[in-house]
Amino acid sequence: MDMNCRAAEGMVTRYINHTLSIKELEEFLEHVQSCSSCYEELETYFIVHEAILQLNEEEESAVLDLQHLLEQDLKKSRRYIRKKKLEHVLTAVLFLILIAVLMALLTLVIQELGRFL
Ligand SMILES: [Zn+2]
Repeated sequence: MDMNCRAAEGMVTRYINHTLSIKELEEFLEHVQSCSSCYEELETYFIVHEAILQLNEEEESAVLDLQHLLEQDLKKSRRYIRKKKLEHVLTAVLFLILIAVLMALLTLVIQELGRFL
């Protein structure tokens, strides 16, 4: 599931606009972590994007460290992936518990019925 640079570059804008799927996001983060040229590409787009946002908001006093901001954003994305994966696991576990409870109830009901039949 190794992603190539062309695929990663095609995702830069979608990363910034938060339109990547969890799977895409995970692969993208994995790639930019190990590929410095794609990271720089992302950094450039991200800084331009943030600079435009700041211009629009007319926050004259806000002198933000944009490189730091990207690191924060990447961290946030990784946390988001972890959270989504955890939710997935928890849902599966809850589902199994529900099935187990239903089976136990069904067994009880069958036993109770057996007494009357
Ligand atoms: Zn690359």
